[in-house]
Amino acid sequence: MDIKKMLVAEWQNVQQLRYLSIKFDPAKCVGTWQCYEVCPVGCWTPNYQTRQAEFHNGHRCIACGACVLQCPADAIQLTVLR
Ligand code: SF4
Ligand code: SF4
Repeated sequence: MDIKKMLVAEWQNVQQLRYLSIKFDPAKCVGTWQCYEVCPVGCWTPNYQTRQAEFHNGHRCIACGACVLQCPADAIQLTVLR
């Protein structure tokens, strides 16, 4: 039994039920990489050329909110889609 896969699947269900999605404003990003460091499922990638984060793998996001809390520039929001 893969506990991590089970947790990700469970959180994806919660995410869908709550209609939550990441909204990222690259113009506010100051390249601290805290989002990259805290995301438990690898949604963020540092771009060392632009000194900004890139949001990848949005389908993996479990809407835990860690990146939102850690971002010092208020560049990330969890929004309700409906
Ligand atoms: S809300 Fe959680 S899972 Fe989604 S991108 Fe942010 S840290 Fe990763
Ligand atoms: S935590 Fe915020 S400011 Fe830092 S890299 Fe991520 S989006 Fe950019």
